[in-house]
Amino acid sequence: MHELGYATEIVATLEEYMKENNLKKIHSITLTVGEATGVLPHYMYECWPAAIEDTSLKDTTLNINYIKVVGRCRECDELFEVSTNFGRCPKCRSEEYDMTNGYEFEITEIKAE
Ligand SMILES: [Zn+2]
Repeated sequence: MHELGYATEIVATLEEYMKENNLKKIHSITLTVGEATGVLPHYMYECWPAAIEDTSLKDTTLNINYIKVVGRCRECDELFEVSTNFGRCPKCRSEEYDMTNGYEFEITEIKAE
C-alpha cells in the first residue's frame, strides 16, 4: 500500500503551491487517478487525514476523479472499458487491445482562497 506516500507527496506539492501563490487556505482539491496506476481511491481517502494532519492543509477535502482504463480493440477498433469487460472487446470478443490511458495521476482542481 503506497497510497500514504502519494498523499504525503501531494501535500508537499500543495504546500509549495500555497507559498508561491500566497494562499491562506485550500478548501478542496480534485485528484485525477487512472486505474492503471494501481492507486486505490478508498485507500487514498483513508490515508488523507494522516497525510494532512499538522500541515497547512489540515482542512482540505480530497476528491478523487477515478478514470477506468479504456482499451482499443486491435481487431475492430472498438473502444471499451477494460475492467468492466474483463479484458475482452464487447463487440468481437477479441482479447487483443491497446491501452489508451490509465496512468493519470495529477491534481486537476484546487479550490483556495
Ligand atoms: Zn473488437
